[in-house]
Amino acid sequence: MSGPRFERVALIGIGLINSSLARVLRQERLADTIVACARREATLAEARALGLCDEATTDPAAAAAGADLVVLGTPLSAYAAIAAAISGALKPGAIVTDVGSVKQAAIRDIAPSIPPHAHFVPGHPVAGTEQSGPAAGFAELFRDRWCVLTPLPDTDPAAIAAVTALWQAAGMKIVTMDPEHHDLVLAITSHLPHLIAYTIVGTATDLEEMLKSEVIKFSAGGFRDFTRIAASDPVMWRDIFLNNRDAVLEMLGRLYEDLAILQRAIRVGDGATLEAHFARTRAIRRGIVEAKQA
Ligand code: NAP
Repeated sequence: MSGPRFERVALIGIGLINSSLARVLRQERLADTIVACARREATLAEARALGLCDEATTDPAAAAAGADLVVLGTPLSAYAAIAAAISGALKPGAIVTDVGSVKQAAIRDIAPSIPPHAHFVPGHPVAGTEQSGPAAGFAELFRDRWCVLTPLPDTDPAAIAAVTALWQAAGMKIVTMDPEHHDLVLAITSHLPHLIAYTIVGTATDLEEMLKSEVIKFSAGGFRDFTRIAASDPVMWRDIFLNNRDAVLEMLGRLYEDLAILQRAIRVGDGATLEAHFARTRAIRRGIVEAKQA
């Protein structure tokens, strides 16, 4: 596959997403030099041992210096400080992008630090697993998934094209959206399901000891599917809920209303309402399978 070419790519954060991107950059030979940046030396040593980078540093500014592409892939709460730190190091024409799960917050925290001679293209590759860290990544993570770009009105079209080509080289399909719309769509498709999973698994964790062992034993009844999602990184998810508050609360309100309808149907024995609801939701699953997003 042919793709864009970068001389020096700085990956700030080298966890699941950015290490998967590093593997794509390697496989497709898209970068001459890959620089990894993390807080901990142990993470950088792991990235080096996995062959994910040519250089490694704990200093975001040193990583970004001279880079033609900088990709922020840390938890959202680190964005503002990292953007401020790299601001003075960005060379003319440098493209900064990010992979954060909430776009209005990413723009709020990064855009003010981007100097006029550099370009910022906010992005979100909608692909992931519940694993974290450099060893968890794999190049195929992005294949056939959607990448949402939320460029600002004045974003340089050539920079958007370069970031588009990058994610296309990773096998992604690209869609452009307003950041507000992205955050609302992701609130229902990703953030609410995680909140529900965290809640159900939390409820089970609080059960009396005897019941708890039964939960593990009979988890194939549906529970285990929630435990996979609820094993996701606590810091990343804390940041997502703190930074997409309005959209998540809006969707949570709707969920409460629908839950109350089902609760009443169960209480009064209204089988028709339950069956009609379940039939409707089954069709959604079929649509996801047909769209190859299962
Ligand atoms: P991850 O596996 O937990 O890795 C996070 C990385 O960020 C680590 O290398 C960590 O280094 C580094 N880091 C944390 N704070 C830092 C700081 N202040 N300065 C420099 N590096 C720092 O995370 P991930 O799952 O790849 O997620 C990264 C981003 O992608 C998040 O913003 C998330 O919203 C987004 N995203 C995640 C998924 C998913 O399913 N996981 C999907 C799409 C988008 P240390 O090890 O040294 O702390």
